[in-house]
Amino acid sequence: MSPPDHALPNRLSVPTDGERVWRNHMIMAKLGATPKGGVCRLALTPLDIEAHCLLARWAEARGFTYDLDAVGNMFIRRAGSEPDLPPISSGSHTDTQITGGRFDGIFGVLAAFEALEAIDDAGIVTRHPLEAVVWNNEEGSRFYPGCMGSAAYAGVLGLDRVLDTTDRDGIPLRREVAALRAALPGAGTRALGAPIGALIEAHIEQGPILEAEGKTIGIVTGMQGNRRFQVEVLGEEAHAGGSQRRYRKDALVDAVAMVTALHGVFHDPEDIIRFTIGRFEVSPGGLAVVPGRVFFTIDFRHPEQSTLDRLGDQVEGLCRAAAKSCAVQVTEISRSAPVAFTGAVPDGIARAAAAHGYAYREIYSGAGHDCRYFADHCPTGMIFIPCERGISHNEAENASPGDIAAATQVLADVMLELAQRR
Ligand SMILES: [Zn+2]
Repeated sequence: MSPPDHALPNRLSVPTDGERVWRNHMIMAKLGATPKGGVCRLALTPLDIEAHCLLARWAEARGFTYDLDAVGNMFIRRAGSEPDLPPISSGSHTDTQITGGRFDGIFGVLAAFEALEAIDDAGIVTRHPLEAVVWNNEEGSRFYPGCMGSAAYAGVLGLDRVLDTTDRDGIPLRREVAALRAALPGAGTRALGAPIGALIEAHIEQGPILEAEGKTIGIVTGMQGNRRFQVEVLGEEAHAGGSQRRYRKDALVDAVAMVTALHGVFHDPEDIIRFTIGRFEVSPGGLAVVPGRVFFTIDFRHPEQSTLDRLGDQVEGLCRAAAKSCAVQVTEISRSAPVAFTGAVPDGIARAAAAHGYAYREIYSGAGHDCRYFADHCPTGMIFIPCERGISHNEAENASPGDIAAATQVLADVMLELAQRR
């Protein structure tokens, strides 16, 4: 990243309303509020559709238009003076994890909407249109994989594959996208993949660094790549009393050996490798039955492609070597390359943060986010704010009104500047 030019003249700025953006967060947090203070609003459930409808009402009250694309992404637009120019867009997601918090995703949507409102309040007509975007199904907690809407928009996932995805009850995404469209009769249609002029995503850090260092703004320099696998270990069910150990094909015994072997390889002294077995299912699950099948998942992330290649390519061999009596099937279910954010967006964030006197630093994103798919298509970047003790994907997730206001101000400034560019 080139050093930000803090001395650049004519930096544009409009005042944003920190109280308004906080109020909107608290209104949104009621949609799916959990007893422990979090939010459960899974993608395209009635609650998530209600969140889209609320945004649509706010947009209508402002005279902003809104469109849906074929996979259920929503684009709230404030027109510019040159309608043929691609929009300067910002957004994130309204869906949450099952035990999600009040800020993950929705902060990026509401900050973007506030930027549009603030620029509207200031009466500025921008050259480029401005957009607040809601990417569909970011969390992947109902429909797998996550970041589905943004991936489809960027052409990383095929349209039919996305629409045919089903949730655990067998409900296809296609049906829920139709339900979203039916709930938003005022929505226009956006072509999937239509050009975007620049994309900025504001998000909570989901880690402890900014809070620990007393920084308000994180300028995200990049995102880890990842590889995901599922492993199926097939043994043979047997009577826990009748079967001798030497004749057993115990899927759990082999699976545990695989997990041990994998953990032995997937670590580094610098503690950069992220390796997680987040799902581990033993079947049939009878107290007196030797397990005949184990299914587990692997999530592996790293900032460097060479490490993703070198270690990821060992998963299957390690599992096969650890299998003593069972068959094993290893399937790679997704992979993403590492992403670097450079240029206009991170430079603009640094300039705006400095101009307002907010403490900031560069930061690397451990989590994946929707905007990753756009870094090769248009100027792209992210603004992080601290979240309390780094806790996220948790009902206790918290962020401060002051940090939200600050990042919203920075976002509005960056969007305005990009939208006036020649
Ligand atoms: Zn998120």
